Amino acid sequence: MPADAVSSSWRSAAKLKALARRFFGRGPLSAEKPYLALAQYRAFTRQMPMMYVMLMTSTWAVAAVFFGHAPFARVIVFPAIMTVASAARARFWIAHRKELTVDIADQAARKSNILAALMAVGFVGWVAVLYPYGDAYGKSLLAFFLASANMACVFCLMHNRRSAYIVFFIVNSGFVAYFGSTGIPSLVAASSIATVVAIGLLVMININHRDFTRMIEAQVRTEALSNANFQLANLDTLTNLPNRRAFFAELESKVAAAAESGSRLALGVIDLDGFKPVNDLYGHPFGDKLLVEVGGRLAALCQRDGTYVARLGGDEFALIVRDFDSDDVLLRIGTALCDALRAPFELSEAHVQIAGSIGFAVYPDLAKSPVELFEHADYALFDGKRGDRRGQPTLFSKQHVDAIHRDARIEQALKLADIDAEFEVVFQPIVGVANATTLAFEALARWTSPTLGKVSPGQFIPVAERAGIIGRLTQPLLRKALAAAASWPSEIRLSFNLSAYDLSSSEGMLAIIRIIESSGFDPSRLDLEITETAFGHDFEQVQKAANMLQRLGCGISLDDFGTGYSSLSRLHALPLTKIKIDRSFVVGLHRNQTSAKIVKSLLALSRDMGLDCVVEGVETEEEMMALRRLGGTMVQGYFYSPPVAETELARFIGTPWRQAPDPSLADGARAKIIRRANSRDRSGASRPRHEHA
Ligand code: C2E
Ligand code: CA
Ligand code: CA
Repeated sequence: MPADAVSSSWRSAAKLKALARRFFGRGPLSAEKPYLALAQYRAFTRQMPMMYVMLMTSTWAVAAVFFGHAPFARVIVFPAIMTVASAARARFWIAHRKELTVDIADQAARKSNILAALMAVGFVGWVAVLYPYGDAYGKSLLAFFLASANMACVFCLMHNRRSAYIVFFIVNSGFVAYFGSTGIPSLVAASSIATVVAIGLLVMININHRDFTRMIEAQVRTEALSNANFQLANLDTLTNLPNRRAFFAELESKVAAAAESGSRLALGVIDLDGFKPVNDLYGHPFGDKLLVEVGGRLAALCQRDGTYVARLGGDEFALIVRDFDSDDVLLRIGTALCDALRAPFELSEAHVQIAGSIGFAVYPDLAKSPVELFEHADYALFDGKRGDRRGQPTLFSKQHVDAIHRDARIEQALKLADIDAEFEVVFQPIVGVANATTLAFEALARWTSPTLGKVSPGQFIPVAERAGIIGRLTQPLLRKALAAAASWPSEIRLSFNLSAYDLSSSEGMLAIIRIIESSGFDPSRLDLEITETAFGHDFEQVQKAANMLQRLGCGISLDDFGTGYSSLSRLHALPLTKIKIDRSFVVGLHRNQTSAKIVKSLLALSRDMGLDCVVEGVETEEEMMALRRLGGTMVQGYFYSPPVAETELARFIGTPWRQAPDPSLADGARAKIIRRANSRDRSGASRPRHEHA
């Protein structure tokens, strides 16, 4: 064969192949587009039973006409076999309509190709064996039967185009070959019409197939989009746990279900202890990794107990516990979670140890609604953390209800209080470690209510803040503190606590500034302490207030450092002069490696930022020594003295304190010194740990 003939026939073969591919697709559809294969299968199963009904009805109609004219076997055997086969197949389709797997769809498509071929051959053959027995009407009926059966099949098989093509090719070839060759004009015309119509039908099927594919693809895209939206709306992107929104939706429905079934349900709120300083120290990417690990640990444990866990935001997680027989079981679940959180986290950058506290509230015990349940769990958490249940679960109880009532009574008494008469200020020394002298006193409020007795500031300050009456306390207390400090030597400073609420109103700030100015006390000897919680308010306003105080000459101390939410960048934005490391990092400092690391780096950080650093709440000799070893320079705590009345301050001024034992001394010698010092302190009548005691 000449070369160009070979290449031209090769080209036509390739064209044919491409055409066939366009019509039939390549290989099983499921491999490329499984969703499309499934959608087609679904549509296909719905049309198949109808096709069998149409086919069998027309087959039996033809059989009835030829009954008596053609031999019994030729008339009846084929329809009988086809009916049984069709019924079996229709039953199969109805039974498998609901089973939707790609494998089943693939198998069904392949089987139906074979069956379509067999049936097409069967019908053409049946028509051929009946043909000789038909008169002109009978022959026309056969032509009509074949043409309409062809069209019905091609149409019903549209969702499995290969079967449709097979039927078309076999039936039409038979039709044309048989009726076209009869030479009877009406039959030749019938075969041509049938062919043309069937071709038209095939074209329509292809158009329909394209539209169907587009529609399914659009559906799949929409579904994917709405899944992505759902994930975005309901999943926490960091930990992949349900987010706050999903949690409250779940809580609503679980409370409703519990109300209906009369069962109990617990809500837990988890807050991490020590996460913020770790986050500040190692950076936010590290903090994020740590949160992912925390989420993973919680999810693993909760899955075991069938507990729902979500991340509410920040370092706050929440639980819905349903399977607990008693409060003890609930607390055991909580303890297991807290224990898991206490285990060290070994990340590639660093090994850290944090803890988590949980507050639980149970529906319907003391809470009747999801909102109340959450508030109570949150209250239990808050109460556990401020008390001695840090790193453990706390269950909202009758005592908490009492505390809420107590707060209400405190609020009532505060509103009626004669502030000048009922409130006084006590002072706690802040001691320089280097030469053991008093550097300053922190003023702390004390309240003796005629109705409630002594109430600690830990109780009444938050209530006054919540009730919006803290300003009424701050101003007289500041006046008292400044009056007391007026008689102190000029090297002794005064520290005074301001509440976030004091900073957030300009009138409040102006009143405070007026009090300072009119007191005659040198503002440069005054440190105003603000806590990080103040930043939760209007940060710009806090900044403005701090700048006003700075311009006046006051120092600004950041109180309770490490317990709040601030990031270092925020600290930079304030004119700070001092930070006070919270007591929680000092408890057991000599034993807890993470605390020691944090205190050490906070000390280094304050040095780098040119800030003074006071370490609060040092109680024991061991803590004091650990702190000296870490390079602490200023200390406040029971180790030196609790807060005392103004009248007792004279003895703390001018004379150095007994130096805290040197860490290099032998244990025995240290213990002797500290015992001697302590016994004098606690006797009350004697002087504190003074050199001249
Ligand atoms: P704070 O400003 O962190 O004050 C230190 C608190 O720790 C004081 O509690 C003090 O008595 C206590 N403390 C000092 N050394 C030790 C120690 O070694 N061990 C232990 N366990 N505690 C120690 P206090 O006087 O009960 O005050 C509690 C909080 O109430 C203060 O915490 C402060 O936030 C607030 N507060 C007190 N007075 C005022 C005030 O006049 N105005 C405002 N806004 N808040 C105040
Ligand atoms: Ca303070
Ligand atoms: Ca503090």
